[in-house]
Amino acid sequence: MDVDVIIVGAGPTGLMLAGELRLAGVRPLVLERQPRLRETPKANGFSGQILELLRYRGLLDRMEAASTDRSHPAPGFPFGGVHVDLPHLADPPLRVLGLPQPRLERLLDERARELGVDIRRGHEVVGVSQDDARVTADVRGPGGPYRVTARYVVGCDGGRSRIRDSAGIPFPGTTYPEVNRLGQVTVPDSVTVLDNGDLDVAGLGRIRAGFTRTDRGVFACGRLASGCLLIQTTEDEPVGVDDDTPMTLAELQDSIRRVLGANLPLGEPLRLSRYQFQARQAERYRDGRILLAGDAAHLFPATGIGINTGMTDAVNLAWKLAAAIHGWAPAGLLDTYHHERHFAGARALLQTQAQVALRRGHDPAADALRELFLELLTDEQPLRRMGALIAGADIRYPLPNPNHHALAGAFAPDLTLRTDQGTTSVAELMRTARPILLDLADRPDLRETARDWQHRIDIRTAETDHRPADALLIRPDGHIAWVAPTDEPTDTAAPALREALSRWLGTSQKTTMPVINRRA
Ligand SMILES: Cc1cc2nc3c(=O)[nH]c(=O)nc-3n(C[C@H](O)[C@H](O)[C@H](O)COP(=O)(O)OP(=O)(O)OC[C@H]3O[C@@H](n4cnc5c(N)ncnc54)[C@H](O)[C@@H]3O)c2cc1C
Repeated sequence: MDVDVIIVGAGPTGLMLAGELRLAGVRPLVLERQPRLRETPKANGFSGQILELLRYRGLLDRMEAASTDRSHPAPGFPFGGVHVDLPHLADPPLRVLGLPQPRLERLLDERARELGVDIRRGHEVVGVSQDDARVTADVRGPGGPYRVTARYVVGCDGGRSRIRDSAGIPFPGTTYPEVNRLGQVTVPDSVTVLDNGDLDVAGLGRIRAGFTRTDRGVFACGRLASGCLLIQTTEDEPVGVDDDTPMTLAELQDSIRRVLGANLPLGEPLRLSRYQFQARQAERYRDGRILLAGDAAHLFPATGIGINTGMTDAVNLAWKLAAAIHGWAPAGLLDTYHHERHFAGARALLQTQAQVALRRGHDPAADALRELFLELLTDEQPLRRMGALIAGADIRYPLPNPNHHALAGAFAPDLTLRTDQGTTSVAELMRTARPILLDLADRPDLRETARDWQHRIDIRTAETDHRPADALLIRPDGHIAWVAPTDEPTDTAAPALREALSRWLGTSQKTTMPVINRRA
């Protein structure tokens, strides 16, 4: 076996997965067909739960230092063409980080290399096959074709995933006909930006700021804080667009001419991009030794969500894959990746498809729907709920043995913890990506139970204000696998903990010899 895991694609999902696998002691090989790191713009930033996870891994500071803006509560969000204001709420439900995708990928690449990941650029995977013991990837590299074998392969190879096709996994859904073209350009001499943002164009007249609808599509323009212009067109085009073909200024100008019926002079292009919305989800995220993550597994018909969902897939998958490779994965553990992340992807599809319904109607009934929707979101509770849904922070994984405590299956809150060694936090404890039994009520009975798994788990005792429970079993992906409610007696809490530990971390030291580094 050449490596443990082959990761196909060095986008945000593949690079995050590579780092997480190294933290879990696994040897991944990343194969990326593009010869160099991405320079063309794609996402301008990202939001949601992944920001918390990056903080829990100690990576957020590094990303903020490279960002155009520190991560901050979103002042509002566009939802299906409707701008929803998010007033200053304590504990805001949605945060954003303005970090362009090429910079994000550079940072994730650096981090993965620091952890010892082998990343090969200019190496395209042309096919994969699997048998009971291994997967084999056929690769076209700069030095010619070659083969690599591994225990597993993860297709992080984007929406047109070859790995998904090789595994015969259906990718049902819809491609919407609107093509959006976006440009950030300097203001040319022949254009004056008026105080209200309207454009006064020599020889053409005035163009209104905001959205202009015509028979051919939608034109939008606005002035950015930097002084340059943000221009967007949306046109229905039945033939799909190719993400890999760079956008040009001429393409944007042609589109403006079709939509507005006029030639709008544009200055120097600072950023150009084009995208078309699809709503698709792979039927299965796993087929034997082949797994899918990120855009290869799902495409959403709204912006601002792809990176969050893809990188969170990676964190959910990494420790489970590592358990399978080290040989201690309990039965069914790897399949929980599909169950949990397909469920999360379906939630993301729910809210992004609702956005399509909101933005597509252009009649009084559709206007009424948008107005009513906005009215409902003036109240704090629905606003919080929408924010959490968009962030993916409302995900509570359905656990096999439902524990009805509100925290079971949810993402662990970042509690401040007082320990014998000083003050720490859940975020700091999660840096090593190891499972934790967090004893918040000095419960020797629970610590004693967990000691049989101490080769796989960190056992911590701490005090916290407003203790939410007596103990939490936190998985490496930050989700809570089990909760001891406050004052739960030993005769129910200890067996329940034992069962949860067996379910998530395999057999205890008492029943087997340590199996560190035993291979699947
Ligand atoms: C214009 C635009 C704007 C966007 N804006 C946002 C935004 O604001 N916020 C947000 O969260 N998301 C945004 N997105 C979506 C976001 O960019 C994607 O969700 C994200 O890139 C998905 O990451 P990924 O790693 O799963 O896949 P990708 O980024 O698509 O990476 C896949 C990688 O696999 C490589 N690859 C493919 N096939 C092979 C092969 N056979 N062998 C080897 N390598 C292969 C590709 O070269 C690529 O590098 C935007 C997308 C577009 C197009």
